[in-house]
Amino acid sequence: MKVLPSVSVILCFFLLFEFSLVFAEEKKGQVYIVNTPILNMREDPSIESDVLGRLVQGNFLQVLQHKANWSKVNFDGKEAWVASDFIIPAKEEEQDSFFITPELLDGYTIVIDPGHGGKDPGAIGINGVHEKDLILSTSKKIAKQLRENGAKVVLTRTDDYFVSLDERINIAHAHNADAFISIHYNAFSIENVQGFNTYYFSSATNRNLAKAIHGSLAEEVNLHNRGLLEDDYRVLRKNQRPSVLIELGFITNSVELKTLQSDGYQSLVAKAIAKGLMDFFHGRDEDET
Ligand SMILES: [Zn+2]
Repeated sequence: MKVLPSVSVILCFFLLFEFSLVFAEEKKGQVYIVNTPILNMREDPSIESDVLGRLVQGNFLQVLQHKANWSKVNFDGKEAWVASDFIIPAKEEEQDSFFITPELLDGYTIVIDPGHGGKDPGAIGINGVHEKDLILSTSKKIAKQLRENGAKVVLTRTDDYFVSLDERINIAHAHNADAFISIHYNAFSIENVQGFNTYYFSSATNRNLAKAIHGSLAEEVNLHNRGLLEDDYRVLRKNQRPSVLIELGFITNSVELKTLQSDGYQSLVAKAIAKGLMDFFHGRDEDET
């Protein structure tokens, strides 16, 4: 069903490409600055082309060539293409000292742990909503976001089946995870209880990871902030990798549940976790109180 639109996009692209060859010009070593929150670097000058990496606003990049609305750039010694609309020439004094800051998640392995599953539904919420189902859709959005930011992501379950707590921990160990993030939703017998929590166990590293992710969630989502807490959940206590457990809201609160079930909320959570991980890996937030 997608064939026709894709073909027409490709045809349009080829028309542009052929036309632009006439105007192709070489500008070796010209330095530009990224002028958009996130800029994809692609293998070829086409939105259909594979993404090789990403830059963030304020990064510098070396432009080797312009072709129509695409610019060929030097990325870690390799060539890549970015959309020219989102870069601006660097000032004279910035030309000499340009660099690309590896702000994103390239090279990091993240284990996302969708809690419960199979015979273990987790909590049961309003309208019989199962915690395990909401967790899975959220975890998949988180995984997608982190992969887009360059991380290698492993899910401890990818569907509705049971995985023991020790198996989840073993997955983190086997992959030498740089972070293990267990995803849950909360429940309580009193309906108006609401909000999100982040839990960690004991170590300073775990606390820094939890703090970075919790801080980012607090900035992004509109839920009541129930705080950053220390607890000894088994997936955290037995885990030798940096690990956190997040309770992303109460499925027993009918108003909150509507938010939790929305694509918008789950996407915000995914973005917030990605940003929190970047803060953690790049050493920000550690010294804040
Ligand atoms: Zn749970």
